[in-house]
Amino acid sequence: ELTLNMTDITKVYSTEDMDTHALRGIDLEIYKGDFVSICGPSGCGKSTLLSLLGLLDMPTSGKYFIGGTDVSHLNLSEAAYIRNEKIGFIFQSFNLIDELSVFDNIALPLRYRRNKVSEKDIEKKVTECLQIVDMTHRAQHKPNQLSGGQQQRIAIARALVGNPALLLVDEPTGNLDSRNGDAVMEMLQQLNANGTTLCMVTHDPRYADMAGRKLHLLDGKIIDSQTL
Ligand code: ADP
Ligand code: ADP
Repeated sequence: ELTLNMTDITKVYSTEDMDTHALRGIDLEIYKGDFVSICGPSGCGKSTLLSLLGLLDMPTSGKYFIGGTDVSHLNLSEAAYIRNEKIGFIFQSFNLIDELSVFDNIALPLRYRRNKVSEKDIEKKVTECLQIVDMTHRAQHKPNQLSGGQQQRIAIARALVGNPALLLVDEPTGNLDSRNGDAVMEMLQQLNANGTTLCMVTHDPRYADMAGRKLHLLDGKIIDSQTL
């Protein structure tokens, strides 16, 4: 069971001449199978919250538990291990590697696994994920030979390949037209319906309202939590 639990989380970015208080006391519980959207104006801390949820960065203070394990102060390799096993990421910019084929881009998370995954199992999983996003016919293409909508579908396949319990999504439709944006959102809803916990930052109110719970962030605090 994967429950995420944050208590009084703060994040301060310190530079030589300035401290930026990006998060100021976040209390948040996310249960297995939830679909949570995070909204709020630019600079309010949405991406910071997502990066802490995904163990891409550590909080300045506060407690964070994933499935009962204290992950408030992991070192880089412990954080990378949990990320690889449990968490998938989808970003606005697709972050695909142009030198690698679509197939090899999707395979990457499996190839980073601490416990080696056999090439046979990689082939099986990647093929499965290509089917889910309907891109089987593009397996040997390079990312820059694909349209934006297609690249985002590849990024989704890469996020799915490791069967993540938690999917963290930052403005997934930001670089897409409305038709491709709708298709991506349909895919995410389907994944959630199949049991994947979903946490999504979005500016688009239509997409935010597809979640089961909408959090409104302002100036580093959750000022409203709405059940939809
Ligand atoms: P949002 O995603 O809502 O636009 P962010 O989480 O990106 O907000 O940023 C929250 C605040 O933290 C902003 O004031 C931003 O300038 C600051 N910030 C974000 N990342 C860094 C960083 N790496 N170093 C310094 N300040 C940062
Ligand atoms: P979508 O509706 O998915 O965004 P487009 O209408 O932009 O697709 O593209 C249609 C076809 O053109 C796609 O099959 C894609 O492979 C190809 N294509 C789009 N952009 C490029 C590009 N920059 N280089 C090569 N092929 C492209």
